[in-house]
Amino acid sequence: MNENLNPEKNDFNSEELEVEKKLRPLTFDDFTGQEQVLENLKIFVEAANLRGEALDHTLFHGPPGLGKTTLAHILANELNVGLKITSGPVLDKPGDLAGLLTNLTERDVLFIDEIHRLSPIVEEYLYSAMEDYRIDIMIETGPNARTVQIDLEPFTLIGATTRSGLLTAPMRARFGISSRLQYYNTELLTTIVQRSATILKVPVSMESAIEIAGRSRGTPRIANALLRRVRDFAQIKGDGNINIEIAKYALNALNVDAHGLDEMDNKILTTIIDKFKGGPVGITTIATAVGENTETIEEVYEPFLIQEGFIMRTPRGREVTELAYKHLGKIKGKNQRELF
Ligand code: ADP
Repeated sequence: MNENLNPEKNDFNSEELEVEKKLRPLTFDDFTGQEQVLENLKIFVEAANLRGEALDHTLFHGPPGLGKTTLAHILANELNVGLKITSGPVLDKPGDLAGLLTNLTERDVLFIDEIHRLSPIVEEYLYSAMEDYRIDIMIETGPNARTVQIDLEPFTLIGATTRSGLLTAPMRARFGISSRLQYYNTELLTTIVQRSATILKVPVSMESAIEIAGRSRGTPRIANALLRRVRDFAQIKGDGNINIEIAKYALNALNVDAHGLDEMDNKILTTIIDKFKGGPVGITTIATAVGENTETIEEVYEPFLIQEGFIMRTPRGREVTELAYKHLGKIKGKNQRELF
């Protein structure tokens, strides 16, 4: 897969950041999909607004690029409060967190991305902030060192994680609201592609929007990235319009898999077929064979492969489906070496 399309890659250049900002939905109405999650959030926000209270601490989990950061922006917007953004690996000392927390005003949102990567001391420090809106701050050093307790304004912590399995139980228990984001189907992604195309002022035919959506691995971030690359092809190789010919040409030139599967997805399927006769095989065995850890396979790769019908979960382990054989051009029951 083209590395520019890697949903976990966040080091966009400034132009890309600008485009990202433009494409990010800012209100509930602007956000496509995740219906159940959204319906609940709307109620919680309305209730918090009515009572003039901070929204309960909220956890979003699910694979990268599905809208966790976007929802944090939307919640702050709909609550009509400020938003501060940081991430787990950046906060290495309690002092870093104290600085952020003491700067929050009433009902503000603090968004911590990759919250499973907080260091244990920072995490523990966060507990009393979340529970009692209170933190201890160490002042002075040496023999005069002492701690003072500081009251914080009521605030909302929004945590995002791609790896909910790595979150500690005490951390998880402190979130009043917890929502898992699902992969998007092609119909929803088509709507997202069309919305983004309108914002970018690039004409895109319905057929092309569906083609781009279908190759986006169920992920809005990938859909937007593909749209931008296809737009480049349309401008250079065509007349600026995205029609189905230019869309197919561009997606093939970019080496995008017909179903949007990435390298690891295909590696998982190939491994189950070639090494384990199509399954059933245990998840830990698959993980070892492809050199990825079990939780990542379970939380990031497998849900998409199951949703799209490439893998089935059976009591004896994971099995690939006919569709997987077809997708990889392999024949069921044949020793793969005999084919060549
Ligand atoms: P995450 O935080 O889960 O990795 P983001 O919230 O950063 O994902 O979303 C990635 C990009 O995808 C955003 O820039 C946004 O434009 C787009 N996006 C995500 N979800 C949606 C959605 N439901 N509707 C429209 N665009 C979306």
